[in-house]
Amino acid sequence: MNITRPSDRFHPGCLLLSKVDYLNYWEEGKILLPRLCHECHLVKPLRAKHCRIINRCVSGFDHYCPFIYNSVGYRNRPYFVGFLTTMCLNSVVGIYLCWNWFNVMGRSIFIGIGFLFLSVIATTSAMMTSLCVYMAAVNLTTAECFKTTKYAYLLDHQGKFFNPFDRGIILNFMEFLHTIKPLTEEELKKAELTLV
Ligand SMILES: [Zn+2]
Repeated sequence: MNITRPSDRFHPGCLLLSKVDYLNYWEEGKILLPRLCHECHLVKPLRAKHCRIINRCVSGFDHYCPFIYNSVGYRNRPYFVGFLTTMCLNSVVGIYLCWNWFNVMGRSIFIGIGFLFLSVIATTSAMMTSLCVYMAAVNLTTAECFKTTKYAYLLDHQGKFFNPFDRGIILNFMEFLHTIKPLTEEELKKAELTLV
């Protein structure tokens, strides 16, 4: 697809076109059709996905969480893991208190229900925390982890799974905690991967 810029830089169409993300890709004929979002009308950055629930593209989309009523993505993943960890710890403290109360006050249906409820929450949040920490360690999102074959940028030239974002466990955690920046597309392109 060839797109030419009008010579008049102040033409309304030209001004509008100049604000299109990845315009240089369009001009060089490198536009990647799978990365077009028809809902947001933009070219999605690498690893961004359109969330159908909040109806917008999310950078580094992980998943939608109904408990926080929001999507989890690149910017709020560390806070989400913190949320899961504190929920797990609070549940463990609650279980301990239930157990103590049970020993002091004797059998009670309310303490039993509380014990069971907190046990389920503690187990679930511990599993989710472990999964999130694992994915941070290997630099994958939940969406990528469960659909590795769906994304071309996670496949090598032979069609096998390959994670180009994996920089080693320490750098992966540093990237997860936003202490270092993610690899740019230019840096990833040096590996001659298909970034669509
Ligand atoms: Zn979108």
